[in-house]
Amino acid sequence: MRGAKVVLVERGDLAQGTSSASTKLIHGGLRYLEHYEFALVREALSERERLWAVAPHIIWPLRFVLPYRPGLRPRWLLRMGLFLYDHLGGRKHLPPTRTLNLRKDAAGRPLQPQFRFAFEYSDCWVDDARLVVLNARDAADHGAEIHTRSELIQLARLDDLWRATLSDGRILLARAAINAAGPRVLEALGRAHVATSQSMRLVRGSHIVVRRLYDHDRAYFFQLPDKRIFFAIPYEDDFTLVGTTDADHHGSLDDVHATPEEIAYLCEGANGYFRTKLTPADVVWSYAGVRPLIDDGSGKPEAATRGYTLRVDGGARKPRC
Ligand SMILES: Cc1cc2nc3c(=O)[nH]c(=O)nc-3n(C[C@H](O)[C@H](O)[C@H](O)COP(=O)(O)OP(=O)(O)OC[C@H]3O[C@@H](n4cnc5c(N)ncnc54)[C@H](O)[C@@H]3O)c2cc1C
Repeated sequence: MRGAKVVLVERGDLAQGTSSASTKLIHGGLRYLEHYEFALVREALSERERLWAVAPHIIWPLRFVLPYRPGLRPRWLLRMGLFLYDHLGGRKHLPPTRTLNLRKDAAGRPLQPQFRFAFEYSDCWVDDARLVVLNARDAADHGAEIHTRSELIQLARLDDLWRATLSDGRILLARAAINAAGPRVLEALGRAHVATSQSMRLVRGSHIVVRRLYDHDRAYFFQLPDKRIFFAIPYEDDFTLVGTTDADHHGSLDDVHATPEEIAYLCEGANGYFRTKLTPADVVWSYAGVRPLIDDGSGKPEAATRGYTLRVDGGARKPRC
C-alpha cells in the first residue's frame, strides 16, 4: 500500500506455525500488568479495538469471568489491575469491568461452591489462522506475491541488494528483506550469514479441548496456586478450550505437541475450579505452539517479556519504500 513490490515466502502453508496454535485472543494481556509491562499492554489494548473494527467478521467480543480465590491475588489488586486494563488503552466500545455474585450469576453454576465472587471484563477472540490468511489475502489484493511451500534457503548481500535463494530454485533480488520466521528467526538469520548477539527463548504453550464444560457464552480467567493463569473458553459449539502452559522448548520445531505432563497440569488446574472433574481421557484434542520470545534473562518462562524488537541490519541507508 506504500508502493513497495512485496513477495512473501512461506516454507509450508499460511498459519502453519505459532499463529494457528495460540489461545486465539485479541487481548491487551491483563497478566502482563503484573510484570509492569504498561507500554506493551497499552499498545495491545489500542490495537484490540482497531483490529475488531477492521475485521468484525472474524473477531468477536468476549467477556471473561475472573473468580476471586482466597490466598492468591487479593481482591483490591485484581480490581486495580482491571481498572488500569479498562482505562489504559482507549477502550471505546467494549463494555467495562463489573463485579459478579457467583451465587446468583449463571457464571457461578459450573464452578465449585467456594467461589462466591468474581470480576467480569472484556477482551476479544479471533480465528487466528483465518486472521493470517486474510492478512495474506489482503496483501495479495494490494499487489503482493504470496508463495507457500517455498522456503528461504539462503540470503546473501549483492552490492546494495539481497539475493534470496528459494527451495523451488527461484532467485529473488530485493532492496530489503524482512525476517518474520517466528521461532525459526535465528535459523533464518543464519541463512543470511548475519552475526547476532541476540538469543531467543522458545517457550511452548499447550492447550486441551474437552467436551463443553458449561452452557453460557463467557470465558474464564483462572489463577493457579503457582501464580500462573489459564483460560477456559467456549470453543466451536460443543467444546471448551483450556490453556495454556509455559515450558522452555528444547526439542525439534517440527514436532511440537502437548506433553502428558502438560495435559495433566491443565486438567488439574481446571479441576481446581469446575464442578465437572477432568482427566486426560476427557481430552478430545490438544495442540501446542512455540512462542518466539526475546531472551530477557527472566527466571520463569511465563515471566519472559512478550514485547518485540525490530533489529535493522544495513547501516544508515533507508529502504526506499
Ligand atoms: C500457546 C500460545 C498462545 C498464544 N496466545 C496468543 C493470543 O491469545 N493472542 C495473541 O495475540 N498472541 C498469542 N500468542 C502469540 C502469537 O501466537 C505469536 O506472537 C504469533 O503467532 C507469532 O507469529 P509469527 O508470524 O512471528 O510466527 P509463526 O506463526 O510461527 O510464523 C512464522 C512462519 O515462518 C515460516 N518460516 C520459518 N522459516 C522459514 C524459511 N526459512 N522460509 C520460509 N518460511 C519460513 C514458518 O513456516 C511459519 O509459518 C500465543 C502464542 C502461543 C505459543
